[in-house]
Amino acid sequence: MDSHYSLQVPNSGGSSRGIPHPASIQSTSSTSQPQSNLPTYRDIYSHPAAVAYAAAHPRRTIPKLGPYLLLQILGEGEFGRVKLGLHMQWGEEVAIKLIRKGNIDTSARISKVEREIEILKVLKHPNIVRLYDAIETDRYTAIILEYASGGDLFDHILAHRYLKEEDACKLFSQLISGVWYIHQKKIVHRNLKLENLLLDRHRNLIITGFALANRFEHEADKLMQASCRFPCYAAPELVISDSMYVGSAVDIWSCGVILYAMLAGYLPFDDDPTNPDRDINLLYRYIVSAPLSFPNYISAEARDLLYIMLVPDPKRRADTQIVMNHRWLRPGAGLFNRTLGDLEHAAMEQHQQKWLAHQRQMKVAATAAEKC
Ligand code: ADP
Ligand code: MG
Repeated sequence: MDSHYSLQVPNSGGSSRGIPHPASIQSTSSTSQPQSNLPTYRDIYSHPAAVAYAAAHPRRTIPKLGPYLLLQILGEGEFGRVKLGLHMQWGEEVAIKLIRKGNIDTSARISKVEREIEILKVLKHPNIVRLYDAIETDRYTAIILEYASGGDLFDHILAHRYLKEEDACKLFSQLISGVWYIHQKKIVHRNLKLENLLLDRHRNLIITGFALANRFEHEADKLMQASCRFPCYAAPELVISDSMYVGSAVDIWSCGVILYAMLAGYLPFDDDPTNPDRDINLLYRYIVSAPLSFPNYISAEARDLLYIMLVPDPKRRADTQIVMNHRWLRPGAGLFNRTLGDLEHAAMEQHQQKWLAHQRQMKVAATAAEKC
């Protein structure tokens, strides 16, 4: 067994790659409690998430993975399911991305998963999903992530039909701050779409879905070979040219599609009447030739921003800096004048606060249980 968390959490069947769990982040705040004071969950099966799962699956024993109970499915990823996990000792909820081993294309998949883990390890931003750990078992590689409990942006928009501009501005500013940070770390996401943007319980945006992300180490590497072809969100240069493309410009295109979807309530390039079978090549020809049109409830300033992002020619498309300086984003500008260090510090603080709130909750629950 490899070394596990620095907190000596018992490991019941997996080996960890030693990325510290938030529980093991050394506290810098004077208000924090020493870790040893944290009460452990006496009966994890009485945790509301475990109770809800047991009620929905009365005849099933709750499966375990490492120190976690594996509860309901949160979503389907490219390589497997994502489930809600519950730490058996601390009672903390996490998202567990499960990649099953043993299929024919395992090695290709595992190398992508390794890359996703490597990339997530270096990203610390308040609006980027936090990697807590990675666990190997005989059957699975499991990525343990911060749990974003507010669902994805797709459902959020559907529930509201379309977002009010001030709400969209807040979420979009968080997205652009995250994308700027990712690019500064010499990484491109390459799969930004509504389903990969989650919300936490305070309705802040959490960027996830890094399975197709890639690194560029040098200026010249910003040019990448086209390998990601996703209809509706992918930049035209990915499909209609076989040349190298600038990775960061591809993310900007997807951000433009996402902003359009937030404000309009539907995707900008999804309704070509002459292409009912959604042939990808036809879709892209439509994208580069059709003029952008807007529903009347989108303001002139928002349209102006969309016009500079949804430019088919990547060389003429706005970059993150231009987007951040746009007047429609002025209310979110406070997020933009931060350095990489500021953002990483804010991310650490945020996790510290979250962990302290969790500790307080646990103490209240433990006191209540003692009184019973
Ligand atoms: P992939 O990169 O393979 O698309 P994702 O990371 O996007 O996989 O995960 C697939 C789905 O699982 C997401 O669309 C979302 O519904 C759910 N999910 C993923 N990560 C989390 C998380 N941290 N918290 C809550 N749900 C998540
Ligand atoms: Mg995804």
